[in-house]
Amino acid sequence: MRKKIVAGNWKMNKTLSEGIELAKEVNAKVKSQNASNVQVIIGTPFIHLAEVNKTVDPALVSVSAQNCATEASGAYTGEVSAAMVASTGCKYVILGHSERRSYYGETDAILVKKVARALENKLEVIFCVGEVLAEREANQHFEVVKSQLVNGLFNLTAEEFGNIVIAYEPVWAIGTGKTATSDQAQEMHAFIRKVIADQYGKAIAENTSILYGGSCNAKNADELFANPDVDGGLIGGASLKAEDFSAIISARSKH
Ligand code: PEP
Repeated sequence: MRKKIVAGNWKMNKTLSEGIELAKEVNAKVKSQNASNVQVIIGTPFIHLAEVNKTVDPALVSVSAQNCATEASGAYTGEVSAAMVASTGCKYVILGHSERRSYYGETDAILVKKVARALENKLEVIFCVGEVLAEREANQHFEVVKSQLVNGLFNLTAEEFGNIVIAYEPVWAIGTGKTATSDQAQEMHAFIRKVIADQYGKAIAENTSILYGGSCNAKNADELFANPDVDGGLIGGASLKAEDFSAIISARSKH
């Protein structure tokens, strides 16, 4: 059975003390709500990881990094390795976010290396894919997403692929307040599952969690999560307020 997941992506927000406070609030909300069927994850800046991992109850909330280095260790000033991320108690790392792809030039080839480092260190990968607006308007969105999956992930063995969560994030919906319609999300999620089935077989595809990301909030989460192939959400802006994040977790829990 694939997991229902609600994952927050805090991006470059919150000082350390603010982050610890938010993690405490999220932990308390999750503890008080009846949502044990949902895997809750918070993706914090690197600098927060060690402290946030000490702050949350790992039975309630898992912690994710938002990136890791392509290399295992050595003279790479400013980089943070997957081993370092794992050593803080993290279970997950978000890779291939559109902001990393577009602002920091992360190509498929770079992502192949990052995914390998993450898996070597027993991190599960939340791997982001998604098209920009011009690609959707040119009806290229399926082709683009397929190519991101094929070129970024399909070098993995079936066993390795078991550690991958996919996040479909149409770039035009990220941080814009414009959400994909429920039908657009379902259509793409079903397509992604089919592409995975063609590569790894139906059983693995059925077991893969595919999250939706892009202006998902407390108001639209319910409708998005009602879709059979939408297994949860990767949440940016709305993960910065415990109240909103908790409402999204409730929406995921009830379907
Ligand atoms: C994201 O960046 O992963 C994201 C989904 O952001 P937002 O929810 O703010 O659109």
